[in-house]
Amino acid sequence: MSRFFSDKYRALTPYTPGEQPKDRQFVKLNTNESPYKPSPLAREYAAKAAEDLQLYCDIGCTALTAKLAGLYGVGRENILFTNGSDEALNFCFMAFCDSDHPAVFPDITYGFYPVFAALNGIPFEEIPLNADFSVNIGDYCGVHKTVFLANPNAPTGIALPLSDVERIVKSNPDSIVVADEAYVDFGAESAVSLIGKYDNLIVTQTFSKSRSLAGGRLGMAIGDASLIRDLNTVKFSTNPYNVNTLTQAAGLGALEDDGYFRHNCAEIIANRAYLTAELNKLGFITTDSSANFVFAKHPGFDGEQLYVQLKERGVLIRHFTLDRIRDFNRITVGTREQLEILLNNIKEILEVSS
Ligand code: PMP
Repeated sequence: MSRFFSDKYRALTPYTPGEQPKDRQFVKLNTNESPYKPSPLAREYAAKAAEDLQLYCDIGCTALTAKLAGLYGVGRENILFTNGSDEALNFCFMAFCDSDHPAVFPDITYGFYPVFAALNGIPFEEIPLNADFSVNIGDYCGVHKTVFLANPNAPTGIALPLSDVERIVKSNPDSIVVADEAYVDFGAESAVSLIGKYDNLIVTQTFSKSRSLAGGRLGMAIGDASLIRDLNTVKFSTNPYNVNTLTQAAGLGALEDDGYFRHNCAEIIANRAYLTAELNKLGFITTDSSANFVFAKHPGFDGEQLYVQLKERGVLIRHFTLDRIRDFNRITVGTREQLEILLNNIKEILEVSS
């Protein structure tokens, strides 16, 4: 830290993203990216858009917004596109939290929430999940705080039914509820259908997972028009050109290629079932994941050791050091070929140790 660093940020512990090693070819199952290339249409549109990069990008993401509004059955005024959904989440912390509206979220969830809260000087409360990692809905009803819930949750993959999300939204008419649906396309129920009914709900989603555009950085917030106006005030006070031209074009191609998107989601869901079943055969305990990852622990093998030994063998998975989940690993669902390599390596590691 330099002596010039602002007092505001001296105590900040930044978010630790998953490893992105470039020194060696890994079977990369650690950051929940899609194993599939972006849609050919997304690549084609982005290449075409590169011809106009001398111009600033469209600050309203006009074509993208119109396309998504049609697909989701919401108004254009209900949508804001952002630089990944991380930016949408940060905008929500900035726009809808302060000392009168502290943030609240589970103790085990997306690790960026406490960082966004700290960055913006917002008090926050972490509510312990139940022993089985499920959310106790009552903990979030009538709380008079800004609620952040990842659905499905990460890293557990456990999803809440829409009726539970609605109960929470309904019971907090004077506070905002943010449903972070980064993984919703892999089998959970989206709360977008509730947008017209409640003016205190924001849904965030991303193109990073199900639409194979993690490197493009494209996310969105969907909510009542008044909330989207607030988020736009924050956007235009920080970075109006937050979604670049190439990304807008790629995003439009990804949305237009609906068949490709649906096919890939179905593959991941099938591969998740296969991976879960194979891990269970090997003695692993797994959560019921509705996401593109599986959260697993082996009663007879240390979680961190499994991560370390797999890494030595060229397979990357994600291990967390948080006490409650240190026995677990989060494994991204890859292609069938990637999963065979993973499973063969796990078998060998378990055999050597027994
Ligand atoms: N929410 C959750 C729960 C996530 O796991 C992630 C991915 N790390 C994000 C949001 C943000 O993803 P992105 O910024 O790539 O849209």
